Amino acid sequence: MEDRTLSQVASIPSHNAIMRSDDLRTENRHRILQSLRHSGACTRAQLSDATGLSPAALSGLLGLMEAQGIVRCTRSSKATNSGRGRPHTTVNLNADTALTATVALTIDRFVVCLANYAGKLLHRTEHTVDTLSLQAETIIELVSDAIKTAHNEFTHLNLRHVSIGFQGVTDSTNRTLLWSPILSVSHVPLSDALQRSIGATVTVNNDCTLIGKALQFTESATLGQHFTTVLFSHGVGMGLYINGRAFSGTESSALELGHIEYREAGARCRCGKLGCIEAYAAYYGIWRAANGDDSQAIPAGFITDQQIQMLCTNAINGDPQTLAAFATAGRAIGRGLSNVFTLFDPLPVALIGHSLTAVAFMRPHILSTIQASSRDTRDFDKLIRIYDNADQLLQEGLLLDAMTNLDRQFANQPLPTEST
Ligand SMILES: [Zn+2]
Repeated sequence: MEDRTLSQVASIPSHNAIMRSDDLRTENRHRILQSLRHSGACTRAQLSDATGLSPAALSGLLGLMEAQGIVRCTRSSKATNSGRGRPHTTVNLNADTALTATVALTIDRFVVCLANYAGKLLHRTEHTVDTLSLQAETIIELVSDAIKTAHNEFTHLNLRHVSIGFQGVTDSTNRTLLWSPILSVSHVPLSDALQRSIGATVTVNNDCTLIGKALQFTESATLGQHFTTVLFSHGVGMGLYINGRAFSGTESSALELGHIEYREAGARCRCGKLGCIEAYAAYYGIWRAANGDDSQAIPAGFITDQQIQMLCTNAINGDPQTLAAFATAGRAIGRGLSNVFTLFDPLPVALIGHSLTAVAFMRPHILSTIQASSRDTRDFDKLIRIYDNADQLLQEGLLLDAMTNLDRQFANQPLPTEST
């Protein structure tokens, strides 16, 4: 399978028409930024090789991009055996040219991070809040205030983009939070409202799509261009990448795997319906079943790492109720994946959680369910990759989304010598 990096995928023009020269320069600037983003600081010769631009074309564009303030070219002399210096230019992104904020919204909390244009994390704060009780205006106000407070420490940097990730559905333009099981309100115009309040552009994404973005950047050799991400955490979500691009619906981000029905009139889901996959496979569902609680009880809020660890310890000690809860969770996810494979053919699955032990207890039940519902005799085990760093992957995906948006903004900016 062909292996392409994010920079190569992102630098492919969206149409094959003959490009105007300023369009071409925009795409070439974008290609330079993506190459620096992927490989870090490099020499002009390395950048020329990576982008396919001639040394003359590269030199001209770098001069303009340096004047624009988005790259830094550091000239130095490299000592040779003869003692004479050889001119040497290192090119890098100008870390101070912009600041980005990321917001990861989960049940009962949200995390705000700030990073500079080189992608270096500068700040992180975690806010605890009863998400189900919030009105739309309050969500906007809380997130806006948290970002402004964080930015107060870095007022010398210009905040240019905010990237938000959450469990649920966005509109297809990534501006509006349409629905989330962690909120009681729907159709929250996060992008427009925050843009007015903060003055930066804002994108809103489903968490599994962002995790897929991060995995595409770091794991493309393993997962290839077609893969699905299944996050089982405080909810159960799915992202799908086909031909290296995130799949979405015609009107929304779609793909709500966790809310496909697993059992008719079954356990209560956080979305309000009964019998969803999530009601059995999200942490609250496993916790509820393992403790023998009423399956119709209102789902618990944030399940802590200690609680997940406690479930794993009980399973290791052979507690039948906990083992049964993990088995049911595995079968529910297996049923969901069977449906996905029927629609899209079997494809690599990145199974993402917070605990390898928890996945280990679910995995055989995921596989046996897929195998039992498929006419295909292939070894489905080979298609599944496990990742236990869900929070870190979400953060990486948010950062990549923020940087991708910034790179596009800068590449589209008129250059110092260009007229608008
Ligand atoms: Zn549901």
